[in-house]
Amino acid sequence: MTDLLRIEEALGMVIDRTFRGGTERIDADLALGRVLREAIVSDLDLPPFDRARMDGYAFRGRDTVAATPASPVRLIGVGEVAAGEFPDGQLGQGEAIRIMTGAPVPRGADTVERIEVIAVAADGSILLRQPVEAGRNITPRGFEVACGVRIVEPGERISPALAAVLATFGYSKVEVSLPPRVALISTGDELVGVDERPGAGKIRDSNTRALAGYVKEAGGEVVSTAVVGDDLEATVVAINGALEVADLILLSGGVSMGDYDLVKPALRHCRAEIHFERVAMHPGKPTVFATSGEKLIFGLPGNPVSVAVAFFLFVRPALRKLQGAKLLELPRAQAICTGRVKGAPPRRSHQPGRLRITEGTAQIEPLRWSGSGDLVGFMTANALIVIPEETAVVEPGQLTEIILLSEQVTAEGRLLG
Ligand code: AMP
Ligand code: MG
Repeated sequence: MTDLLRIEEALGMVIDRTFRGGTERIDADLALGRVLREAIVSDLDLPPFDRARMDGYAFRGRDTVAATPASPVRLIGVGEVAAGEFPDGQLGQGEAIRIMTGAPVPRGADTVERIEVIAVAADGSILLRQPVEAGRNITPRGFEVACGVRIVEPGERISPALAAVLATFGYSKVEVSLPPRVALISTGDELVGVDERPGAGKIRDSNTRALAGYVKEAGGEVVSTAVVGDDLEATVVAINGALEVADLILLSGGVSMGDYDLVKPALRHCRAEIHFERVAMHPGKPTVFATSGEKLIFGLPGNPVSVAVAFFLFVRPALRKLQGAKLLELPRAQAICTGRVKGAPPRRSHQPGRLRITEGTAQIEPLRWSGSGDLVGFMTANALIVIPEETAVVEPGQLTEIILLSEQVTAEGRLLG
């Protein structure tokens, strides 16, 4: 087993050989999911003025120090200010102005009290039965963000919340990564098209569609697809064609030790440099990583689940790095395993599971599957259960590491510590 590379080493080799791709300037309204490639700087204070947090009245806090229930302080009402207006006058001593949530607090006032605890007299004056501390219910200008501050660094994925920040600071255009161009090549004499009814010994090609989806979710763009039989020449032609149009090539199938596994010979024929071809993982052991100049080439074992695991562990980080993303790997967490799962010593195993939060506790349910070809079993997985190299079995109730199959967790990529 000495020729088996550890997953971390293999990933390190991929990351070291992955270069950040180019950028483009696009309409910020179309930038959702793209990776930001410029720093975002605030062009104004936020809030841009001292802002009322409540509907009520604004006045000077010190005018109310003597207020008691028995002897309330009376302030003179002097009009109102709504959100969107800017009061030009200065509020004087003993005066109060009606103010709405989000509206700017007029000069002179330093305090807002909510309408619910204020008695308004028929003549428009207001009564306060207790003192109100100066500064109450006001968000001071610049409290959230000051003008001229770098608030987002390059490498962040543009979420709806980040898109809102871009809008707030006037970014109508934004610099983002070009989507990495990906070519997909499915190999195997057994493959037929989705529209066909497979004859004896044949199966429909599902990897092309699965990989197209994984690539898209990771921010890449599929620029070509090809299906080739177990034929050296056809595979070479497909790889050379893909090298013309893509930054990253994903082959599936044809990397095992079988007589018809021609991906590695084809890669050598294309003068690609093979960096690894066996990783201490299960499933996905025969995963191949090669480069041709700056172009990245992955040969993934054909089993649909192996394809998924190898994609999530190696290809996705490469796609994220090509986009200049800060976070390359999927988030990991700890969860209590609700079933028994077998490991695959001395390889690290990744088994499909379904994460649920039950009464505040993360629980991972191993999904029944009959091996790395069980695509239907894999369909409902939202996490992979990580079974360490030396572990033969994880028992129900044991805490275990999982990889979440979605990035939408926390910025730090950790759920539950
Ligand atoms: P291979 O890695 O070529 O030995 O293939 C391993 C298994 O994956 C075989 O059972 C193949 O039939 C299956 N397989 C290979 N390519 C695909 C594909 N494109 N779609 C679905 N299954 C595939
Ligand atoms: Mg094959």
